Amino acid sequence: MAQVQAFLEQLHHEFKGISAGKLASYIPELARADPDWFGISMVTLDGRTFEVGDIAQKFTIQSISKVFVYGMALEDYGREKLLKKVGVEPTGDPFNSLIRLDEDSKRPDNPMINAGAIATTGLITGHHPAERLNRMLTMFQNYVGNEVFVDVSTFISERSTGHRNRAMAHLMLNFGMIDQPIEEALDLYFQQCSVLVTCHDLAVMAATLANQGINPVTGQRAVGAEHVRDILSVMYTCGMYNFAGEWAFRVGIPAKSGVSGGILAVVPNQAGIAVFSPLLDHHGNSVRGLRVFEALAQEYGFHLFDLSLGRCKFTSRD
Ligand code: GLN
Repeated sequence: MAQVQAFLEQLHHEFKGISAGKLASYIPELARADPDWFGISMVTLDGRTFEVGDIAQKFTIQSISKVFVYGMALEDYGREKLLKKVGVEPTGDPFNSLIRLDEDSKRPDNPMINAGAIATTGLITGHHPAERLNRMLTMFQNYVGNEVFVDVSTFISERSTGHRNRAMAHLMLNFGMIDQPIEEALDLYFQQCSVLVTCHDLAVMAATLANQGINPVTGQRAVGAEHVRDILSVMYTCGMYNFAGEWAFRVGIPAKSGVSGGILAVVPNQAGIAVFSPLLDHHGNSVRGLRVFEALAQEYGFHLFDLSLGRCKFTSRD
């Protein structure tokens, strides 16, 4: 088995020449990214960090935020109450699909598609918008271990162009799936997507989930251990858009991607891993990111069914 740091450097070298894929452009701010940015970061539960490339470049977290806000809603509402509002069924449709709003069940399919994420964000408790935003930022800070900020220009860019998300919220309001005031829920959703992180931050956040909710670097709890299994379950089944089934088959690590080019993945009891590279395939997943994770899963036996069958070959001491 390859030594971890050397293997990450090898993967970075091998895949940095890939120029396939496109920058997301439907949010104008995202089109300003450098297509060459490429970082890989791994944080193990014994506090070791292995990383290479653009691991300190800041970018907006985008859809990866949905994982953590879902965790917050689980804490605010409890599992059974939340399940009545937002389902856990993968859709096989793109993340921004309008057609899967199920009028009969009165709830969006899952919290990883935009409709389900907007509904989930609308449930976050707090007396006024600033209190809800502050609670959310504190939650992110506990995962990251540092202060986090909203990128104001991305927030404004999302708010002024997010007609599809606004349409979804209106449809859900019409079906009785969410309540007023939807503009406040949408603003908070656009703000959560605009939180600035680095590839290293994402690896620490993933390592926190791999460590039953305790940040392995700061020792601080970010989410109740009783919610981690539910969070990882929806990541596993719905985290990679309409590629989630193939990802589960090929890579088999609970993960979440975002349109700014990040992928965050949780190897339970072992490590958090993140890749950042903004060129996306037609599902909206980072092209280089997919290659890195396939190679890592293969090399170290990180697929959940390798882990549970005792076939994991990873040790951070290497
Ligand atoms: N802010 C983006 C949106 O709502 C997030 C999408 C994503 O990362 N898939 O469209």
